[in-house]
Amino acid sequence: MRIDAHNHAGIRYGAKQTGAELVAKLDAAEMDRAVIFPFVEGSFSNEPIREYAREFPDRLIPFCSVNPWDSDAAVEEARLRLGDEGFKGIKLHPTLHGYHLADHGMVDPIFEVAADHGVPVIVHGASDLYNSPLEFAEMARAFPEVPLLMAHMGTFWLFQQAIELAKELGNLYLETSRAPVFEIAEAVKALGPEKVIFGTDSPFVDYEWEVKKMERVAATDAAYDLVMGGNIAKILKLA
Ligand SMILES: [Zn+2]
Repeated sequence: MRIDAHNHAGIRYGAKQTGAELVAKLDAAEMDRAVIFPFVEGSFSNEPIREYAREFPDRLIPFCSVNPWDSDAAVEEARLRLGDEGFKGIKLHPTLHGYHLADHGMVDPIFEVAADHGVPVIVHGASDLYNSPLEFAEMARAFPEVPLLMAHMGTFWLFQQAIELAKELGNLYLETSRAPVFEIAEAVKALGPEKVIFGTDSPFVDYEWEVKKMERVAATDAAYDLVMGGNIAKILKLA
């Protein structure tokens, strides 16, 4: 199964992607399924995500996003979406919302919801101030039962540190969206294909190219299959 672990859906200033638009991209690129979450700039809602996932239940996998600054309301929102509404994971963006990923007082309650529901957390993880690989490592250690995906795998300046930490921590995975082929190939080589997960960050990419580039990162078909869907399918209990 081919799964794209990182896509935004909905509408905000300067960007838009509906469920149907994303499914058309999946079809054109021979992808089976995609994880979707909202654009989180400004005020945002998980409601369009619920609607798109209902429209394409076999193709789109809903993750909710919350802003931990909303405190109890963020926890309540995550519980609602992961509970009755059947969302499959949580997306966080420390840089856009302005908090440190490893701020335990603020972020632990969100991870506790993920732990309770047995779902993964995916977090923006480029080499920005608020979500450096060391902050991921701290949270991965604090919640060893929660699969933690580092989106963009520390690109550019911290991808080597990301690799070292993912090597050490069983529940820390590197997600490939927007990362260059060289960095992804290095990660697959150093970690083995089990710790690397394909994502695109659509709509902010040339979709076909993001899929195409992955042909260059894995040495065998078996490794390619794990990176392109096997690993995330296992985390999401789809396989
Ligand atoms: Zn993104």
